[in-house]
Amino acid sequence: ISYFLARINMLPIIKSWKQQTEFVNDAAHELRTPLTIIQGKLEYMLTKPNKTILDEAEAISVSLDEVNRLNSLTNNLLVLARSDSATTKFNFELTTPEFFLKDPIEPFKDIINSQSKVFQISLNHHPTLYLDRDKIKQLLIILLDNATKYTPKNGTIKIYDQIEGSKYQFIISDTGVGIADSEKAKIFGRFYRVDKSRNSNSGGHGLGLAIATQIVNIHHGTISVRDNLPHGSEFVVEFPIKHM
Ligand code: ADP
Repeated sequence: ISYFLARINMLPIIKSWKQQTEFVNDAAHELRTPLTIIQGKLEYMLTKPNKTILDEAEAISVSLDEVNRLNSLTNNLLVLARSDSATTKFNFELTTPEFFLKDPIEPFKDIINSQSKVFQISLNHHPTLYLDRDKIKQLLIILLDNATKYTPKNGTIKIYDQIEGSKYQFIISDTGVGIADSEKAKIFGRFYRVDKSRNSNSGGHGLGLAIATQIVNIHHGTISVRDNLPHGSEFVVEFPIKHM
């Protein structure tokens, strides 16, 4: 049957429909978990006799955590849905790295230091690029946030840049938990997490790198991951340089 479907050019439509269904399924699943927890806590508050203030405080605190998770999940879903849509407006302009790298890096200096980790910044190039600066800032936040999340205390997170032929690269490297070769391609997919139980503590839904990939694709760039030996990962983002 796929032969006939291919002949009338239906395969891409069916594939994209299948992907949409999978996406809705995964999204519903991710939404259901926090909602079930909040529902349980509310029912408990309403029905449990003789509860103490401590019981109540615990139920409220757990519910609030779950509401925060729901908030970040729905924000991420909106970002993905908007960048899928043809109507999304991008604000492309000629720019140089200092105009989009500095802002997102600043807050991470404090966060990383407060967690007893080292943050090294070595940005030395100033090529002209044609980018939507806000989108690139968002991409950088995703990568720095991951590097911070998956690097234990005393680790090092580094951002540096280089020029490779007609491409500009910025690289975020960490000395964290690392990513197995068999997982490297998968982590850029929607809702994919290497270790679900580990990541549920750090609050991830597996959407960050999917959003990062979409942002990079829109800019005709690439994103990839490699090992940072002896341990950790390096995410390499590459954009074409505009020769004026
Ligand atoms: P999440 O919100 O779970 O971090 P992402 O899409 O950003 O979602 O990342 C997908 C998965 O890739 C993560 O759950 C984690 O397992 C892995 N990952 C991402 N960045 C790193 C990193 N710097 N070090 C180790 N693992 C990482």
